[in-house]
Amino acid sequence: MSYFVINMEQPGVEVRQLAQMNGHASFNEVFMTDAVVSRDDLVGAVGSGWQCAMTTLANERRSFDRARDVGTRKGRQGKIFTDLEEEFAVANAPYTWYPQRAGRVDLVMRRAMDTGAINDPAQRQDIARLHILAECAKWTGERAKAAAKAGKPRGPEGSLGKLAASNVARLAARVHTAISGNEALLTGDNSPMQGIIAEVLVSTPAISIAGGTDEIQKNIIAERVMGLPKEPRFDEGPFRDVRRNSGPTSAGQDREL
Ligand SMILES: Cc1cc2nc3c(=O)[nH]c(=O)nc-3n(C[C@H](O)[C@H](O)[C@H](O)COP(=O)(O)OP(=O)(O)OC[C@H]3O[C@@H](n4cnc5c(N)ncnc54)[C@H](O)[C@@H]3O)c2cc1C
Repeated sequence: MSYFVINMEQPGVEVRQLAQMNGHASFNEVFMTDAVVSRDDLVGAVGSGWQCAMTTLANERRSFDRARDVGTRKGRQGKIFTDLEEEFAVANAPYTWYPQRAGRVDLVMRRAMDTGAINDPAQRQDIARLHILAECAKWTGERAKAAAKAGKPRGPEGSLGKLAASNVARLAARVHTAISGNEALLTGDNSPMQGIIAEVLVSTPAISIAGGTDEIQKNIIAERVMGLPKEPRFDEGPFRDVRRNSGPTSAGQDREL
């Protein structure tokens, strides 16, 4: 398996937006029909594609615990920095819902005080649990940053952080629902926080799937971090020989699981 960065501006590459249930369309499906790949497009050595893909995904997962902004470059002078800021603004435009996907823990206390939910002992417990989880996840992110700064290779923080972000988002959606009740579903000007709470509810499910599902993160943590035995696999070898429910295999025989 080899890894290529190809020219997307060519006939044969078709990018189709995927509409999400929160009304945004911030990612796509890409169809390649007779698209051309040049030898210069190869990243790394021939056959090292799996390693490149794993590195890409480890970086993608790490991005779940940090904001997409150009904070460290803001205010820097020079064309390169203004160009970069402009590029980031365009690239980040489809991601206005990302804070909602993370659960908007920052809005929980304000909502709890506005609605009086803060006086309910059971809800206070959940709010405290949520803040503890969110703070712990932040520290995992800080540990990863410190390790990267010290020049250490990427550790398990990517998968741990991704899984923690899922748990935080899921609990945040539950806490917001408990605080706002039926109003959590409303959108528009008269809704809680101009529809942001409703957007939280339809955006948080994404975080447990995008960039690798929770179950896959758990497998990675179990197998690669903790060194537990690998789960049994039924999909090894050529694709034509992968076991399926029924139907003929390459050998022309019916196989059933
Ligand atoms: C909001 C969002 C943004 C996305 N953005 C991108 C993007 O930018 N680029 C991109 O390439 N893709 C993107 N994706 C696709 C995403 O990476 C995949 O949907 C995801 O990795 C899950 O793969 P799948 O949909 O094939 O599910 P499947 O792999 O079919 O999984 C289905 C279910 O089975 C479970 N499962 C699968 N294998 C195992 C196992 N071995 N053990 C236990 N459980 C298992 C999964 O956890 C899941 O619950 C995005 C998806 C979403 C929702």
